[in-house]
Amino acid sequence: MNGGAVAAEAARRRTFAVISHPDAGKSTMTEALALHASAITQAGAVHGKAGRRGVTSDWMEIERARGISITSAALRFTYRDHVFNLVDTPGHADFSEDTYRVLAAVDCAIMLIDAAKGMEPQTMKLFEVCRHRRIPVITFVNKWDRPGREPLELLDEIEERTGLRPTPLTWPVGAAGHFHGVVERLTGRIVRYERTPGGATKAVETELSPQQAAAELGEDYARAREELDLLEAIGADHDQKTFEEHETTPVLFGAALPNFGVATLLNVMVDLAPPPAPRPDVTGARRPLDAPFSGLVFKVQANMDPAHRDRIAFVRVCSGRFVRGMVLTHAATGRPFATKYAQQVFGQDRATIDEAYPGDVVGLVNAAALRPGDTLYEQQPVTFPPIPSFAPEHFAVARVADTGKAKQFRRGIDQLDAEGVIQVLRSDLRGDQAPVLAAVGPMQFEVVQHRLAAEFGARITLDRLPYTLARRTDAAAEKVMARQRGAEVLRRSDGTLLALFTDRWRMATIQRENPDLTLEPLIADT
Ligand code: GDP
Repeated sequence: MNGGAVAAEAARRRTFAVISHPDAGKSTMTEALALHASAITQAGAVHGKAGRRGVTSDWMEIERARGISITSAALRFTYRDHVFNLVDTPGHADFSEDTYRVLAAVDCAIMLIDAAKGMEPQTMKLFEVCRHRRIPVITFVNKWDRPGREPLELLDEIEERTGLRPTPLTWPVGAAGHFHGVVERLTGRIVRYERTPGGATKAVETELSPQQAAAELGEDYARAREELDLLEAIGADHDQKTFEEHETTPVLFGAALPNFGVATLLNVMVDLAPPPAPRPDVTGARRPLDAPFSGLVFKVQANMDPAHRDRIAFVRVCSGRFVRGMVLTHAATGRPFATKYAQQVFGQDRATIDEAYPGDVVGLVNAAALRPGDTLYEQQPVTFPPIPSFAPEHFAVARVADTGKAKQFRRGIDQLDAEGVIQVLRSDLRGDQAPVLAAVGPMQFEVVQHRLAAEFGARITLDRLPYTLARRTDAAAEKVMARQRGAEVLRRSDGTLLALFTDRWRMATIQRENPDLTLEPLIADT
């Protein structure tokens, strides 16, 4: 296959994530998008939420018990001759580190906002990641079929909270809860939505003339027209360049449950969302899309399915054509990596994947050596920049409950460390039997505890440490900090030295007394 063909395949890929606060409708939207694109035939086949048909991996009892999604994988479907890769993000704030890695794999994000609630804390946290990575964001105001806020007020809030200028592509006719349809701002088309009896996969959309709209939708249409004039006057128009540069966000109004606006969202993804672009390597040089294969490992997950007991590395293809069976090089070790078992995974559904192009997500089975952030390549060596890890804010000493299981404990900790489930910190003082686990959210501890017991037979005790703050530091700090209360230096398994403090004031005092001390902020440390 020649380079032009790879570039053409890349051009028809759309790789994206839906980011939202829990309950804003991410699962409903995921289903609606896939159903509309006819990828799956029955509602509920995508996500494993209670009451829906589908998918929970057995080991994820925590996930089930709490009704949250911890696993991430990618759903693939085609629409208008384009291949969509929807990469799933964990919904809970405690797993934002995972989200960060997942978002390293996408080219665009859909920010889902609940019409009644506006920007919520988790929406903001996820959005911060998009800002950091400069991922273009399309905003979808969801649940317009239910009472909610004023549309202009929501636009203000988006701008205030995100710094992105909202550029509505559609405008609702009817206040939230009285949703008749939308006006498409680019074309001027007026589209009326009606529910399909029986809640099928498509809403009925009828185009109305302005005269019909005025006659049938009266006040609501007149109001929409006024608001549209206002938007016109302030120049809130879509601009492709500022959208791609993360300065503006196109906004759509709709409702995922009755499928209002879902087709428009798919069309917008095809027409406006950026396709895969050449990705910069560690030197800043961009790997052309038609260069030999390269891919970025963005997630590693072990034991996704107890029947398989395997370990899957999710790889985003960055350049070239992936063909199952090809032997790649693992950039971190220089070792060959065979890809005989390549899969597409979403929840429990798996299918063998035989070829893939830039933007696609491939699950590689038996990927014991791969870590999140690793590069795989064919022929021409390349290394993509590592995915930075989050600043942990919760710390606990882990000890095995039954000393007879010390070996299993060590193996388990190493495994979860490699997967990036938790950060593992050590020091000579604390010894190897009692590593410090460092988490962004405390629920990560639960996952570690659960998985060590369930998968490695090692029950553990956790003693929380009083630290809340971590900074990158150097060897000189170890000596200084050894004499301090409320602080400690530990070495993370990637070699980074982290200085931990009970709080900001303690850190400020120590820094004041030791002005030469190196203390650098870590990612998301705001
Ligand atoms: P997630 O937690 O973000 O995945 O949210 P879900 O997709 O599970 O949705 C949360 C709840 O909101 C569910 O009861 C959905 O049926 C409901 N929901 C989602 N989208 C809409 C919508 O557009 N309109 C209405 N009325 N309900 C919705």
